[in-house]
Amino acid sequence: MIQSVALNFNQDIAIMRIVFIGPPGAGKGTQAEKIIAKYKPAHLSTGDMLRAARDAKTTIGLEAEKYMSSGQLVPDEVVIGVIADRLKQDDCKAGYLLDGFPRTIAQAEALDKMLAEAGTPLDVVLELKVPDEELFTRLSKRGRADDNPETIKERIAVYNNQTSPLLDYYGKKGLLKTIEGLGTVDEIFCRIEKVLDASKGGCGCRCQ
Ligand code: ADP
Repeated sequence: MIQSVALNFNQDIAIMRIVFIGPPGAGKGTQAEKIIAKYKPAHLSTGDMLRAARDAKTTIGLEAEKYMSSGQLVPDEVVIGVIADRLKQDDCKAGYLLDGFPRTIAQAEALDKMLAEAGTPLDVVLELKVPDEELFTRLSKRGRADDNPETIKERIAVYNNQTSPLLDYYGKKGLLKTIEGLGTVDEIFCRIEKVLDASKGGCGCRCQ
């Protein structure tokens, strides 16, 4: 009995539902990997899911590719459907990192509704903040298929127009934590650890 209470308590401490927001090129992918390695949430990256669907040539994947290749957002109803299915899978019960979703207010509202119905609210929304000029430089060096100069400009504009309103949306809900995205990978991860450790009570990291 005592053992089972202790187990539940530990599980509860470990469960974190995190939204990770940041412009293309902010280093979200790199930091997401480090978050997954340390805190073990399921990694829900809509970019990865859509690229996998595209490569598998599914109906959704072929539809998504039309938008992805020009830096536009895939329509809300498509992405919301993909995430709704993914959130029902068992591994999400132990917490997850939503990476690249939501990207519009409509997506955030749909997510809120799903989570309210399931009784599983978000713990924290992390914003990785990097100035536009730096994003452009970083993306130009990366070389993914959608990293050509025109598409990069479009993706940054799409972020500023459609995704950045989410900062205010989550700020008003008291969930937003902004992480300064300039510095070394480890410095930035330290900032993230501080926020995540504090969001579940007590800071286990030793960084400044
Ligand atoms: P990045 O953050 O580098 O722009 P992602 O891998 O997150 O890249 O996404 C790549 C592309 O996939 C986006 O430019 C967009 O076309 C599509 N995409 C990913 N997530 C979403 C989403 N939540 N809503 C609409 N489109 C999305």
